[in-house]
Formats: sequence, C-alpha cells, structure tokens
Amino acid sequence: MTHSQPHNLATLPVAIIGGGPAGLLAAQRLAEAGCRVVVYEAQATMGRKFLVAGHGGFNLTNDEPLTAFATRYGSRHPTFESFLRYFSPADLRRWAAELGIETFVGTSGRVFPTADYKPAQLLRAWLLRLQQLGVSLKTRHRWLGFEGPQTLRLRDEAADTEFLVEPAATVLALGGASWAKTGSDGRWTALLAEIGVSTRPFAPANCGAEVAWSAFFREKAGRTPLKNIALRCGNESLKGEVLLTDYGLEGTPVYALTRPLREALAAGPAFLHLNLKPDLHPDQLQQKLQRPRNGKSLASFLQQQLSLGAPVPALLREVAPPEATADPAMLARLLQNLPVPVTGLRPLDEAISTAGGVPFAEVDGHLMLNRRPGTFVAGEMLDWEAPTGGYLLQGCFSTGAWAARGVVEWLEKSTSVLS
Ligand SMILES: Cc1cc2nc3c(=O)[nH]c(=O)nc-3n(C[C@H](O)[C@H](O)[C@H](O)COP(=O)(O)OP(=O)(O)OC[C@H]3O[C@@H](n4cnc5c(N)ncnc54)[C@H](O)[C@@H]3O)c2cc1C
Repeated sequence: MTHSQPHNLATLPVAIIGGGPAGLLAAQRLAEAGCRVVVYEAQATMGRKFLVAGHGGFNLTNDEPLTAFATRYGSRHPTFESFLRYFSPADLRRWAAELGIETFVGTSGRVFPTADYKPAQLLRAWLLRLQQLGVSLKTRHRWLGFEGPQTLRLRDEAADTEFLVEPAATVLALGGASWAKTGSDGRWTALLAEIGVSTRPFAPANCGAEVAWSAFFREKAGRTPLKNIALRCGNESLKGEVLLTDYGLEGTPVYALTRPLREALAAGPAFLHLNLKPDLHPDQLQQKLQRPRNGKSLASFLQQQLSLGAPVPALLREVAPPEATADPAMLARLLQNLPVPVTGLRPLDEAISTAGGVPFAEVDGHLMLNRRPGTFVAGEMLDWEAPTGGYLLQGCFSTGAWAARGVVEWLEKSTSVLS
C-alpha cells in the first residue's frame, strides 16, 4: 500500500457518491492524500449493506495467494490482479488493524474480524477516522444526475431541497442492484444513460437456484442440508454443503456456480449435478452397491453401505428414473452425478451480489469514465462478479483505492496544466 504525502491538491472538494465500502475507502485514501472530501449517501446512515454483510459472517477478504485470488474475478482477472496488487488482502487486514479491529484466518482462507468485534464497531471506528481526516459525511443526500461537464445535481432529502455542486472530481460508488432496502437499488443506470454510458443489465450473482420440486418432496425434504457433497455446472465443480429448500437449493457451492448456471439457463434446460460421494472412487462405490440388499429398503441400504441418510432416498426418487435405484451400476453413476433440473435463479433483490453494471470498456485504466473526464467509478457498480469468500468486499476496497489513486493523478495533472 503506498500513501502519497499530504499536500493541497485542489481547492474544490472531491465528491464521493455512495457511502458503501468502495466509496468510504476512496474517501479515506483521498483525504490521506490531502484532498478535501465530501461523501454523499442517499440513506439515513452510511454503509448499510456493509453491515448486512457483517451480520452474515463478515468475511472481509481471503488469505489466498494473490495470483490465485485474482482468478476469482473470472475473465476480469488480469485487471483485478493489478487492483489487488495496489490494495491487497494484506493491506485490507492492516487497514482493519489500524482501526483497532484484529482479524483472523478461518476455514478455506476466509478472513474475519475476531469474535470480539461487532460489524457496527468496525463501521463506527471507520466513520470516526474519516471525520478525523476531515471528510464531510452527508447522509440523506441523493445524487440526481449530472449537470454540464463538472456539476452534480443532488437532493438534501431531510431539507427537501435540490442543489448543485461543482467538485474537483467525482467518485461514483453506488453499488449493485440487490438488497434495495440497503440503498443499492441500481437506479443510477438511468443517470449514466443520460450521458451516453450504457450499462450491462444486472443479473443475480451468488444466489440460490430454483427447482420445481414436487409437493411430496417439498413436504418430505423440508429444509435439509446435504453435507460433504460436490456440485457441478458444466465444467465447474466444487465441494461443500448445500441446503435443500422448498424452492430449490442454497449454499456456497450453488452461489459460486451462479455464473455458469446463468449461462446454462440462457442456453436452454439447465442442470446442477450433485456428487453425493465425492471422495469415493467410482469402483469402490459400485462394489458397495453390489452387496446383497437382503430385503432392506433403499433408504436403509444406502444408510448402511454409504452412510447416506435422509433426504438422499427422497431426492433420488424425485429426480432419478425409478429403474435406476434397482441397478447397482446405474445407482452408483447417479449418486456421483445426480442431475437436478434448475428452472431459474432466485430474484435479483435476494442475491448477495450482482453481475452487470458499468462495463470496463466505459472506463480508462484509472476507472475514469471515458465520457466524463474527472468522474471515476468503483465497487460493485462496475461489471464484475466474484464468489463469496471475501472476494466481493476485497474487490470493492481495491477498486475504491485504485479509483482514489486515479483521482489524485488526474488532479495533479489538472493542477500542473493550470499553473
Ligand atoms: C446478505 C449479504 C451478505 C454479504 N456478505 C459478504 C461477505 O461476507 N463478504 C464479502 O466480501 N461481501 C459480502 N457481501 C457483498 C458486499 O456487501 C458488497 O459487495 C459491498 O457492500 C458493495 O460495496 P459498494 O461500496 O460497491 O456498494 P454498496 O455497499 O452497495 O454501497 C453503495 C451505496 O450507494 C448508495 N447510493 C445508491 N444510489 C445513490 C444515489 N443516487 N445517491 C447517493 N447514494 C446512493 C447506497 O445507498 C449505498 O449505501 C454481502 C452482501 C449481502 C447482500
């Protein structure tokens, strides 16, 4: 992490629109670089989705080596590798420590604040630090659009008045389009369209999958976990635990497969393939299933031979052809490759994150809008997606830091042209 020495960059403040993690980190970095900064947030409080993330475990980042980390951003991985090098997972942990919040590495490299800290404490400490740095935090201030090349139109919702500001530069960090009640409602796409920036339609990422279970199965299976399974969509597969729900499937492996699943759904009928015994060699599995059943029901035979209890027999009855359970070879193949027909993804508003937003073709290497010099974009409003595991918040922090650096360089260039 590199800090510029504080100096007077511009007399006009830099406007940050959106008080989520991307916007607040951009604000902090700019203030540390000597800029005057004002954050405008539409909601009554800053960082609402950040707090929601906190209630769900608060997985701040991941301890994975950086090159592997970058691959989590799919086709965007070379670009993200440079963002991550600039503000790395280690920088994020240092940032938290500087706010007095210690972190630890949990399972699969996930990084969390230690149990002593509540999400609200981290946010409170951060907002206090921003105020100490002189950042002006304005809640209930909604950005309404652009006015000419440098001016922004805003509404002070408490005072019920509209006004114009002309900042030295602007960082838009308006979030994606899920959990609209936190403020991330995606309505900003219309404001960018006014200046000719076309956005990619939002789509749910990291969300559950819908399956048209029979009424019998819904009643029989209820909300049941399937532990130690592997889930596959096309060529992508991962191990973990899924939860059967009355509308389909939830769980980390399902979330991580939303992108290929979305593509499969767009192309025609889509399936998630369950491997219920991922650690058993297919030959061993078949051998176990060839043992005599001695009149046992399928449920007790699967329990005895493979420790597969409820809801596996009901699931087999639901999605496998009836003759398959009687044939050991066919049953063995099914247990390691059970096709579950998926009818759709859960609604956008329920998703942990969203794909779509501002395409990278609309910004330059510093995340500045090509169509509006001096306006930068950061966080989830950019068109990228990543799985859960700390990759989302890290992506927001790293793009926030990178956009702030872009602002500083742009202001320095503008100042040197003027002098
Ligand atoms: C249930 C849940 C759990 C999650 N858990 C994790 C996790 O454990 N780890 C992880 O890495 N990620 C997690 N995430 C994802 C993470 O919270 C988001 O990716 C992140 O908050 C996005 O940050 P952002 O700054 O880009 O946008 P946001 O946090 O969405 O902030 C954008 C802000 O812009 C404001 N805004 C929008 N329009 C305007 C306007 N016109 N004028 C002014 N302000 C405006 C909004 O009110 C909002 O506060 C979770 C998300 C959810 C929903």
